[in-house]
Amino acid sequence: MRILTLAFTAGALTMSSLANAQEKTPPPIKPEATEFYTPVPPKVTPGAHNTAPPSDAIVLFDGTSLNGFVTAKDGSSPAAWTIENGELVVTKGKGDIQSKLPFGDAQYHLEWSAPTEIVGEGQGRGNSGFFLMGIYEVQVLDSYESKTYTNGQAGSIYKQHTPLAMALRPAGEWNYYDIIFKAPRFNKDGILTSPATVTLLMNGVLVQNHVILKGPTEYIGIPNYKAHPEKLPIKLQDHGNPVRFRNIWVREL
Ligand code: MG
Repeated sequence: MRILTLAFTAGALTMSSLANAQEKTPPPIKPEATEFYTPVPPKVTPGAHNTAPPSDAIVLFDGTSLNGFVTAKDGSSPAAWTIENGELVVTKGKGDIQSKLPFGDAQYHLEWSAPTEIVGEGQGRGNSGFFLMGIYEVQVLDSYESKTYTNGQAGSIYKQHTPLAMALRPAGEWNYYDIIFKAPRFNKDGILTSPATVTLLMNGVLVQNHVILKGPTEYIGIPNYKAHPEKLPIKLQDHGNPVRFRNIWVREL
């Protein structure tokens, strides 16, 4: 205001008022002002090939043993599924298996392959599932050129979110899922304070983009959150079909 007043009073800017104006003009922002050097991201060595676990991953299944899993229904160890040629095969009737370790916020990687002998259709064909925290299902299903409800096909958050794209490979070929998961949070009274979110890439293609989960997976009815710990074991589903898994690892966030 002072500069303007001076300028109007004199009818023109004097040398001294010009100097004043220059003093009040903020200096131009330098490029360095928006360049940060902390925090420093930790160094992580990528796997030697695209599907190998990075250096800081917790490996749950590397093809050699089932020591990372127990049978879900009775906790028996090792889990009752079979390993064939370094691949973990769902063994019908043995039930779901779950990790010994609990996980919550994390990046998850798994690879799966549907049975080459195609039996059944829709939800009965090459069905399994990857349950985050044991209760939020990322669908594993041979829905390659097989019709089913879209929010139940491979890459869906079962009965909640339809995948954005269909990037599935046919039965017998390997698919991989990369999942970024944020666990829900509850306050001390058990009230939901922030819902779970999932981002999912199927064979490198984004199919779930930071979707908000409505609650635990329900086959019938509307999901509703119930308070639970910030970490719970992941679960793999026995849906009666010999789906194969390999290379399962987790990076906690
Ligand atoms: Mg399933």
